[in-house]
Amino acid sequence: MRIILFGPPGAGKGTQAALLRDHYKLSHLSTGDLFRAAIKAQSDVGMLAQSYMNKGELVPDEVVWGIAQLGMEKVGFDNFILDGFPRTVVQSEQLSHFLKGRGEAEPIVITLEVGADSLVQRLSRRRSDAETGQVYHLDYNPPPADIPAERLIQRPDDHPDQIRRRLAVYEEETAPVKTYYQQRGAVIEIDGMGDMDVVFGRITEALDAL
Ligand code: ADP
Ligand code: AMP
Repeated sequence: MRIILFGPPGAGKGTQAALLRDHYKLSHLSTGDLFRAAIKAQSDVGMLAQSYMNKGELVPDEVVWGIAQLGMEKVGFDNFILDGFPRTVVQSEQLSHFLKGRGEAEPIVITLEVGADSLVQRLSRRRSDAETGQVYHLDYNPPPADIPAERLIQRPDDHPDQIRRRLAVYEEETAPVKTYYQQRGAVIEIDGMGDMDVVFGRITEALDAL
């Protein structure tokens, strides 16, 4: 099974991708996570990506394609969830061309639909464990009490100015990706509001019905 999990920043893509990975035994490929790992390793790609990410801008397509292609080759092509990629129509075209060249079908596209106010609430209170990478929400999915506060970090792009910019960039550059896939075949729209396990139930129900 190959899935593109699509939606605006804060829609719950990373959260649902982790649940789907465990449930269907898939690899989870998040370009955002790959860039954050590259920043940690202080690689050239990481340093370049950081200058865009910290402003809430998209990393240039050619840089993204390099890291995404490597990621897909590493996990194989049969079972993956793409999270945060493709994020522009150019990236979608690159992916289609690449998969077609390998004789692979287009992935199943699942979109998470969440209102703008909820996106801001989710992003502004998101925290992650610096040691394990586990993502929490201070209100909706609070971290266990035994994790020391200093281990819980807020992403630099989860501050108000960057959140605003990322949501605007989503509307301008990423939302057209949904139309791209709608013109090519099935896109499954999932209501992303409600508890995480409820949203997960909606996704698995839709996938199991295919
Ligand atoms: P994305 O990967 O789409 O940017 P995340 O999965 O990181 O989104 O979720 C953003 C924030 O919202 C995180 O703090 C996460 O814990 C929280 N979250 C995820 N799903 C839900 C949900 N269904 N209800 C409330 N909060 C959620
Ligand atoms: P995410 O973890 O998916 O929220 O991504 C964090 C940031 O990484 C984004 O705001 C972009 O700056 C960058 N990024 C991640 N994936 C992509 C992508 N497919 N295209 C362009 N930029 C990306």
